[in-house]
Amino acid sequence: MRLVATALAASALRPTPTLQPQASGLYAHLPFCRRRCFYCDFPVVVAGDAVKEDRVAHYVSLLERELSKQPRSSKPLATVYLGGGTPSLVEPRFIKQLLDAIDAKHGISSKAEITLECDPGTFDAAKLQKYVDAGVTRVSLGCQSFDDEALEAAGRAHRRQDALDAVQAVKRVGPRHGWSLDLISGLPGTTPEGWMETLHEAHSLNPPHVSSYDLQVEEGTAFGKWYSDGESNGRPPLPQDEESADAYRVASSFWRSRGYLHYEVSSYARTEGEKSRHNSAYWKPRASWLGLGLGAASSEQGARFSRPRKMKDYEAWVADGAIVPESSPPHGADALEDELLTSLRTAAGIDLTRVRDVYSSEYERAVRRGAQEAIELGLAVVEGEVLKLTDPDGFLFSNYALAAVFGEVGDVCV
Ligand code: SF4
Repeated sequence: MRLVATALAASALRPTPTLQPQASGLYAHLPFCRRRCFYCDFPVVVAGDAVKEDRVAHYVSLLERELSKQPRSSKPLATVYLGGGTPSLVEPRFIKQLLDAIDAKHGISSKAEITLECDPGTFDAAKLQKYVDAGVTRVSLGCQSFDDEALEAAGRAHRRQDALDAVQAVKRVGPRHGWSLDLISGLPGTTPEGWMETLHEAHSLNPPHVSSYDLQVEEGTAFGKWYSDGESNGRPPLPQDEESADAYRVASSFWRSRGYLHYEVSSYARTEGEKSRHNSAYWKPRASWLGLGLGAASSEQGARFSRPRKMKDYEAWVADGAIVPESSPPHGADALEDELLTSLRTAAGIDLTRVRDVYSSEYERAVRRGAQEAIELGLAVVEGEVLKLTDPDGFLFSNYALAAVFGEVGDVCV
């Protein structure tokens, strides 16, 4: 799963609203993985090389029960994202069963972008063709690196050759909405030269879309334990902050100089039409999307909810009626901060006339005041009436720029 989920206060617990959701997209979580990568804090179920069919059948039946409790969406879905976990560990007939159930409940547009996250080493062209026959139109391929030592040090189950074979399989099948190649910078033991080699190898495969994430060391993960004292304890060292920042700058300049659009902090598209439609919806103001499955987040006009992250808790939640607590969308400063957080992730930035019209001229002035220092430091610009973070340093230090803007927005008295 690629999106950070947001928990909702337990005090807001009330039955699922009967209003029709406004979402045009749905995220479904398929948690099975061969092993747990050393950096991963996603809700996953470690299943070895082959997931037992009865486990998958049971999980898909839970998803169907959750679906049966959801209010029907007001319009057919334009995007479906099957993330994980490693969805490509799941047999294609289960993916078809799930997509059929989603279609029966909400309707899936005939032109919908339907993405399946796939990991190298878990599928071949014949299996991928079956996913496509089931309705999948786009693949997000978790290559992460083309350096075998970095893959090993990160606990990945695949190696460089598996990634190359996987790309050939994807190209042979040719999903209608293309594919994305996912990379992680800052893996332990990665040198600047090694990162550059990974970028060149990735580019030689001519991916329509690239997602490039910076390694985050989270508490509770193996990396969190091993590197918590700042020492590598005999393991390949983590890059220093400045090296990680350089890896980000290098990647941004590498892809842009080859014509890719750096349209969001971590996302590059070869052309306008090859941007991820599903992920782009997350970054719209007051976004709505449906969630399904273990740990999945959903949002109704900015009011977010995260499902339980442990399987037993998720099963119990479904058995109790899959109740999504009713909550009002954020408003005032909270809504504006939410909008700043998502809009400023994108190259499109935030339209200050919209801030004035939707929130008030006081808030617009506060955003301009808060952004001033970031502008002076070269981290942000105002073009026309649009505030944007600069690429790469504004994106890189977005937390700094956002903190200054939030400080001013929070001080507005309304
Ligand atoms: S394959 Fe992805 S979801 Fe699974 S353990 Fe590794 S990082 Fe986590």
